[in-house]
Parts: sequence; structure tokens; C-alpha cells
Amino acid sequence: RKQIALLRKQWHVKVNGEDIPPLINNFEGMKFPRPLLRTLKDQGIVNPTPIQAQGLPVVLSGRDMIGIAFTGSGKTLAFVLPMIMIALQEERMMPVAAGEGPIGLIICPSRELARQTYQVVEQFVAPLAEAGYSSLRSLLCIGGVGMRLQLEVVKKRGVHIVVATPGRYMTLDEADRLVDLGFEDDIRQIFDHFKSQRQTLLFSATMPTKVQVFAKSALVKPVTVNVGRAGA
Ligand code: ADP
Ligand code: MG
Repeated sequence: RKQIALLRKQWHVKVNGEDIPPLINNFEGMKFPRPLLRTLKDQGIVNPTPIQAQGLPVVLSGRDMIGIAFTGSGKTLAFVLPMIMIALQEERMMPVAAGEGPIGLIICPSRELARQTYQVVEQFVAPLAEAGYSSLRSLLCIGGVGMRLQLEVVKKRGVHIVVATPGRYMTLDEADRLVDLGFEDDIRQIFDHFKSQRQTLLFSATMPTKVQVFAKSALVKPVTVNVGRAGA
């Protein structure tokens, strides 16, 4: 326990909440399937960043999480990697059927950001299918061209991971901007459609009061992981 506290201190990771799982040192204990490890390697990703080191075990333990870490600190993979792992697990137990899904929903404040995040998801999901792992289907849901075709996929086969902007339709990425842009009510409406067992993650570079208030109403007993800049 002392060692974990020390590691958190070294990595500028502050945590808040009850029963917080220890942070990881590397990706080895994560039971990532081989194709996923390969994608990490291909991208030159060897070790987790601090938000990933603490975020991965928190998300995989099923907890709600508030992740605060500066831009460029690797927040995307802190929710994409565990989301893929959870989707693989659920697919194994109960395959997603036609018209069903998603297991994971990522909400971004702009189409551009949704597109970028979807690309990250696809980079990890596509090789899984190629390698014969239970194939996960992911969908970019930002309206406009091709939307009807995309929704056909859901109707015909079901979908595991959706990356969306709130206009259309759950990780809340760039939550400060989502709140700034007035998307709170849309997000609440989405929440209303989920059944009681919802795991919610909220990631942001900053935490203004408005976002804190929103997080408090939307998340249950969240673990807060706050990564400060070295020296800050
Ligand atoms: P944030 O959302 O926190 O601003 P991103 O998730 O967009 O940051 O990541 C920023 C960059 O860091 C991306 O190019 C990503 O590929 C890279 N990256 C993410 N995780 C790692 C890691 N563990 N090691 C090295 N690079 C990483
Ligand atoms: Mg980001």
C-alpha cells in the first residue's frame, strides 16, 4: 500500500473515493489480447501514462470515474482500452444481436473529435477481428452523410461501441466543453434510456464548478483521478 502511495506521488496522480484499486506499472497484467498489444507496440506505446495507469484498473473494476488530466496525457486510451476489454468480455458472455447495443458509448463535443476518437477505437478493434477474436463492431454516429447506412449495421448485426456527438443521440470526453456548449440536457436524456447498471466515465482537462455539479448528479460513487503536471 505504501508503495502504491509512493508511485501515485511520483506520477502526480491524486485519487479520491472509496476502495480505489491500485494503479498499474505496465500493461502486462492487463490480459490484453495479442492483437491489441500489437497495436500498442505499433504506435510506440510501451508504458501507460499516469491517467492510464490509474484509470485502467478503476474502469475495469466497474467503477464510475472522473478523470482529470492535461491535454496530451493519454485520456483517450484510458477509456478506450478498458471499454474494448469490457465489450470483449460481454460479447463472450452474451453476443450482441441484431438491433442491440451499444455496450460502450463515447460522447464527444464535436464531430471532429468524435471522428478522431473513432479512429483510435478502430485501430484497436479492427485487428481483433482480423485475428479471429470475437469481432467488435464500432460505429461513428455524427449524423450527416452515410448515417442511414451506418444505422443499417446496427439493425442487421448490432453494435458494441458507438462514438457520437450528443446532437444525435458513455464516456463523456472533454466534459468541460460539453457543459459549456449546453449539452447537459441531451446527456441526461441519454442517461434516462440506460438501464440501472450504467458505468459512467467523465474525462476532462479541467473541472469547472458546473462540470463538478453535473458529475455529482450523473455518476455514482465515482473514483476521481487527477493527474497534475510534473512540477505543477
Ligand atoms: P488527451 O485526450 O489526454 O489530450 P490523447 O488521448 O489524445 O490525449 O493522447 C495524446 C497522444 O499521446 C496521442 O497521440 C496518443 O497516441 C499518445 N499516447 C497515448 N497513450 C500513450 C502512452 N501510454 N505512451 C505513449 N504515447 C501515448
Ligand atoms: Mg482528449
